[in-house]
Order: sequence, then C-alpha cells, then structure tokens
Amino acid sequence: MALSSRPLPEALAILRELSLDLYWSWNHDGDQLWQQLNPEVWEHTQNPVEVLQLTSDEQLQKIARDKNFLAALNTLTQARDAYLTDTSWYQQHYANSALKGIAYLSMEYGLCDALPLYAGGLGMLAGDYLKTASDLGVPVVAVGLLYQQGYFHQSLDDTGWQRETYLYNDPGSLPLRRAQAKDGSWLHIDTEFLCRRVRFRVWQVTVGRITLYLLDSNDPRNQAGDRGITSQLYGGNRELRLVQEIALGICGWRLLDTLGCGDYVCHLNEGHAAFATLERMRTYCERHKVSFDEALWATRAGNIFTTHTPVAAGFDRYPIEVLRRYIDEFSQQLGVPAERLLALGKANPEDSTEWFNMAWLAMRTCAFANGVSALHGAVSRTIFQPLFPRWPEREVPIGHVTNGVHVPTWDSSRADNEWRQLFGPDRWRQDLERMPTDTIEQLDNHRLWQMKGQGRAQLVDYVRRRLGHQWRRESDPGQCAVFSEQPLDPNVLTLGFARRFAEYKRPNLLLHNPDRLAALLNHPQHPVQLIVAGKAHPADQWGKNALQAWYRFARRADVKDRVVFLEDYDIELAQHLVQGVDVWLNTPRRPWEACGTSGMKVLVNGGLNLSSLDGWWAEAWHAEVGWALGDGDVHGEEQDDDDATALYELLEQDIAPCFYHRDDADIPTDWLERVRHSMAQLTASFSCNRMLQEYIEGYYLPAAQLLANRTKEKGALAAELFQWHSGLSQHWHEIHLGELQFDERDGHRRVGLNVQLGGLNPEHLTVELIADPTDAESAITLALTPASTLQSATHSYRYEGQLDSARPDGDFTARVVPRHPAAMIPAEHQKIIWQSR
Ligand SMILES: *Cc1c(COP(=O)(O)O)cnc(C)c1O
Repeated sequence: MALSSRPLPEALAILRELSLDLYWSWNHDGDQLWQQLNPEVWEHTQNPVEVLQLTSDEQLQKIARDKNFLAALNTLTQARDAYLTDTSWYQQHYANSALKGIAYLSMEYGLCDALPLYAGGLGMLAGDYLKTASDLGVPVVAVGLLYQQGYFHQSLDDTGWQRETYLYNDPGSLPLRRAQAKDGSWLHIDTEFLCRRVRFRVWQVTVGRITLYLLDSNDPRNQAGDRGITSQLYGGNRELRLVQEIALGICGWRLLDTLGCGDYVCHLNEGHAAFATLERMRTYCERHKVSFDEALWATRAGNIFTTHTPVAAGFDRYPIEVLRRYIDEFSQQLGVPAERLLALGKANPEDSTEWFNMAWLAMRTCAFANGVSALHGAVSRTIFQPLFPRWPEREVPIGHVTNGVHVPTWDSSRADNEWRQLFGPDRWRQDLERMPTDTIEQLDNHRLWQMKGQGRAQLVDYVRRRLGHQWRRESDPGQCAVFSEQPLDPNVLTLGFARRFAEYKRPNLLLHNPDRLAALLNHPQHPVQLIVAGKAHPADQWGKNALQAWYRFARRADVKDRVVFLEDYDIELAQHLVQGVDVWLNTPRRPWEACGTSGMKVLVNGGLNLSSLDGWWAEAWHAEVGWALGDGDVHGEEQDDDDATALYELLEQDIAPCFYHRDDADIPTDWLERVRHSMAQLTASFSCNRMLQEYIEGYYLPAAQLLANRTKEKGALAAELFQWHSGLSQHWHEIHLGELQFDERDGHRRVGLNVQLGGLNPEHLTVELIADPTDAESAITLALTPASTLQSATHSYRYEGQLDSARPDGDFTARVVPRHPAAMIPAEHQKIIWQSR
C-alpha cells in the first residue's frame, strides 16, 4: 500500500513497484527511464517516487504511448524479475543449513539520499549490508526507525561557520509503503511507556530481495511527546535516546516476532539495539513457560553483537534512575527483580552508582561478539576486559569481521563496464573466487588511464555544478568573487578527503602548515588539487573550527583553483568523489578509526589510498597498493607535527612525482602499476560480499546451530546449562589447586598437580596448564586429565598431562575454567581460578 496511490496509466502501472524497490539505487539500468519521465525532478531528487508524483498526467499519457519507453520498461522489468527469482548464491550454498534467517537491527541505514536515515559510517555499513544480502540472497529481515527528520543538512555562512538545517522526511515522498497487518489494517506495534500506551506505525522498505521495516511513533493517537520519539536521528536529550533505543530494541523485536522471525539469528549492529535481547527473552518465557534464566540460556545462543566503538567513552550509558523508570514494568512482565536486568548492563552489579551500559548489556546477552577490523577486534578485547575479570585479554571472546563495501553502489559506470567485461554482469552475486586477481593485473594501461581520466573529468564537472548551488545563496556576491569561477583541472592529481569532522580523524592535519600545502598544490611540475567535505557534529565547536579553517584556506587567492570545500557531504557526493579521485586521504589517530569504509570505495574505481595505519588500512596496506602514514604504533596529539611532516613529504617526494612520471604516450606507468595491484588485491577482499560470507560462516551458522540445539525439546539443553551454571557458581569457591610438579618419564616431559573440587563434578570444568606468549613463543594451553582420585571426601584428583614444550617450569601456571560442550566459554560463564604463584 503506497501512500502515493496516484493512478498511473495501465501500461506504466509497474513503475510504482519499481519506484518502491531501492534496487534502483545501485542498479542503474532504469535511470534513463526516470530521466525521460521528468528530467528536472530526476536530476534534483534521484528519487523515482518524487518523479511519479511530480510528473503531469499529460506527460504520463504521452510516455504510455511511447513504444521505445515501453520496450525499455519491459526489459527492465524482466531483468528485475530475474534478479529477484534466480537461484541465489546463498541458496546454492546454504539452502539446507540450520539458519532460518537473520534479524538485523540498526539505529541508522544509509541506503540512498532519497531515504536519509543515516549520519555516517555505521549507517552506511548497514545500507551496504542490506544491498549485499539482496545480491547474494541472504535471508535478512531488517528493522530500524523512521525519523521525521534525518541527520542535518550542512551549509556554511559567509565566515565558514557551519549552519544546520533539519528537513522534514515526508513519508509520502519516500520510497516506502505501509506494512499491512493480517486483517488488512496498517500494522502497528504497541508498547507501554510509563503506564501509557504508545503506538508505533510500521513501514516497509524494499531493498531488492530484502525488506527493511521502520518503526515510527508519529501516530496521531499518541501523546505529542510520544509522537516525537522518532523525531530525530541522534537528536534530543539522553532520555529521548534511551526511549529510541527501547523502541528499536523492544518494539523492534516484538515486530520481528509478529512477522514470524522469532527463531532467527539476531544481529545487533552496535549496542543501540541491545534491548532486543531482553524482549527476545520475554517472548520466549511467555511462549514456553520457562524461567528468565532458562530463556537467557536458550536465546543468547542466537544473538550476535557487532561493536563499532574504539573507546569505552563511545558507548551509550544511562543513569540507573532513568533506566529504572522504564525497566520496572518490563521486569515484572519477565517475572524477575529489576536488579537482575540492571545487573546485565553493569561491569560491577554491586556498584549502585555505575551507569547502565548498552554495550555491556549486548555482551552479556549475545553468545557471539565481534569488532569491525583486526585492530579493532584487539582494541575491543581491551575495552571489554572488565566483563571478564582475571581472564587474559587475548581470551576475551570478541573476534573480528572487517567491514566491506557494496561495490555496485560505489563503482562508476565506466568502472562497472571494465569489470563487467572481465567477469560478467553477475560478478558481485557469485563466489569471489571467480574474480582471480591475475585477470585484473592484466588490465591494459591505456584503458585504465582512460578510465581514470574520465572519472576525474566527471568529478571536476560535478564539483563545479555543486559549487554553483553553494554560491548562489551567498548573501554577499562580492564575497564569492574571491573564489574561482572554474576551480579544479581535470588533468591534475586529485586528492579527496571527506569524513566527519571529529577530532580523532584529524581533518586538518593537511592544514598543519598552510604555506607548505599551498606550495604543494601550486607546484610548477607536480601540481595537486584537493576536494574536501564533511560535517561537524552540531555540538562540536572543535569540528566547526576545523571546518572554518578549511573554508578560509580555500578562499586564499593563491589556491582558489586548487582546493574546494563542498558542503553537505552525502551519499551522492561520496559516490562522485570515490569514482573520480586519484588518492583518497585518511588521517585518523590510531586506533580510533574502528574500521573506516570510505577508502574501500575507491578501490574498484582505480583510486589509491594514503592513510594512517588504522582500521582496515592496517591490514590492507603493503607498499605495492598504496601509502601508509605513521609507524603503526599508538601515539597522542604530540605525534601530529611528525605525521603532518610525513604527510607532506609523501605527497611532495613520492606521490606527486609518481603521478607525473609519464612514458612516451604520456601514461604514468608506475602509477598504474599500483592502481592495478590495489584493484586486484583489495577490491574483493574489502567488499561487503567477503564480509557477509564471514558473518555467515563464522557467526550466523554456528549461532543458528547453537540456538536450535538449545531450544529443541522444550529447551532441555538450556535448562541443563542453567543447572550446570548454577552448580558452578555455587561451589566454585571450594576449588583448591595444589603445586605443579614436573618430571621426565619414558623420555617425555610430564606435569601433574592435585586439585580439590569440593562439590563439583570433574566433568564440569577443565584444569589447564598455561604459559603466556612471549616474543619468541606463542601461548600454551594444555588441558590436563584427572588421572586418579586421591580422597573422595574432598573430591581431590590428580591431574596430569604430557608437555611437548621445552620452556622452563617457571613459565607455567595452572588454572581452572568452566567446561560444558554446549557452552561458549568465557562468553557465557566468566569464572576462572588461577594457581597462586
Ligand atoms: C562511506 C561513507 C561514510 C563512512 O566513511 P568513513 O571512512 O567511515 O569516514 C560516511 N558518510 C558517507 C556519506 C559515506 O559515503
């Protein structure tokens, strides 16, 4: 049921359905048709829903008689039908797996500018994820919030100070429709907030094969304050944020349950959505008449938490008093004291002053967790260490899946064409192994250089047009005259820098020495040009100052042709940038960039990266594929001087000369050598296809299996696990470890020790011999076996093992950890006891 139910001529009726499938946002076969219907609206909005609404009846009638249009429409429709119904990559590989589906929850989604529900990288990732799930046929059902206003639009005033404008998201002009309840009415999810009923309307967005459901509190029956719950993305005060997270988590899961997805694997894109795990427990308790603890043990197996934050201060936290108002009622429904639920969000449940932390909640209610790059995985193990007291940091149960990008969203039509010729039209819908790197390495210099030239020229064109819009609204035309009428040059080495103006990203590292930068830009033989864009958070004065510094620099008479600042960084601008730049610049302070994805978007288009060794670049970089800034160690602000100098030197001595070093045919052969290596070695590895495959193999399938095991037979295994867990908790303090004894027997090095287990069964725990890793040696973990009973009264056992290592006795210690073949240790049980040394 679309809002825009304006009648269309019969021959064009299918356009409505096409307009409501975001498939058009990455498959550009239909662009010509929307363009033909209404060139002006299409150019301004890139939104087919607007095109259908704003085109006159007369024009629609005319088009309905246009044979060429109808033929093209028919081809398009057939291609889309095939896209939707062909056997997918997922069906080929996993049709018979235990995985029924994936319920994905995220605060933001960056799918396209016609549906502006994103602020930055987190949303872009969620958008790219859904598109890739559609391409590969992965059974994802996604949930988010429909904000009445998305993130702000940016403009700069005459002094370069950021102004924020919040535009109204008119659902009637967005590519979405109402979700229908079984009885034909508009689907709603209701909840109780502070003893009053709040209704959330449900919308649905079609992303190819995938459906994204959006909750919206703007139901006229709600109180005005409640109607505003979904008013703004990341707006309002702390309590509003909490209520939004309750809406996303609790109502989001309630919706998923209503849709029949209650036994899916649940994937939390960041801790914002963590309340979903509580609602999942509640519905499970209600349905199966089990206790809270059994529900926790049953459902946790099916939950996956992806953390995106590189610093603990980045987690959402709430004062207990605020949370208690909302959680009291909920805990009554669950039949547990509110304290039990509050404890899930604290590192130390005993501490009454500690705030409730959404990331801790997620970690405690998900059996699986991961960071978003190898480095971020390691950083996360440090941050989450407080939840695993006395466990070595390396064993904190957080893995990593490095983010990737949905390549068809970011490639230019020219690049698309080159790749299509090499690997066919379905290359991003198949196994990545079908794109051997050798084939790309053979790309011809001329074609590649032509592709780069075309991309750069189109970018320069686009920038000039976009700047034109920026200047026209300037209050004082005299001010604008400082700027160039025709900035940029399609033949000059082009750098792009676009990202949030957050301090850790060091958006003005390049501005460290403005005169040196100006000299670099104006070099007589090796000129460089620079395109900068990005928003500062509305409350961030530092970021706004940094923006202003760029604005002022761009006005300098000596660089005005070589540097531009583009307002209102959005997906469209990002697409043009990544398709046209030669070098993508990224200068975060390690290890603050959890992953970063914008640099991955240039790979397919033959752009190169120059970046700090942080996030994805720390694992992608080697000398053949791009340039690295910094030494890969962690430094503070004092490092900025050195990094800025290193950045200038790389650009002056390495990058610019390489770009302008040409052969007889004026082709930069060394440059293109790097381009080919980067395209060949990195594009597929940092695609969302690779990422999704890793989630399936490493997380979704194991979680689905674990969930199925624990929930079958009325949750018998979950009940057993809870029994095991309670027993361990009760008797753990009775464990006592003796001394380690080493000896040689039959030419083997052996170790033994006596252990008192008190009331515990040896089957329920493991006694291990441990040696920490050193520079030269990796860690050793050896499970010892209970060889004989010593004294039955105290449950004392002799544990023994055979050691293959020659490391000295003193390197070893013993410990006891919980054991159950069906439990995830230490994710689900954190007890550990070490031999005192
Ligand atoms: C890719 C993208 C981002 C995220 O980029 P980072 O590398 O994480 O800074 C943010 N905004 C837009 C519009 C993007 O396209």
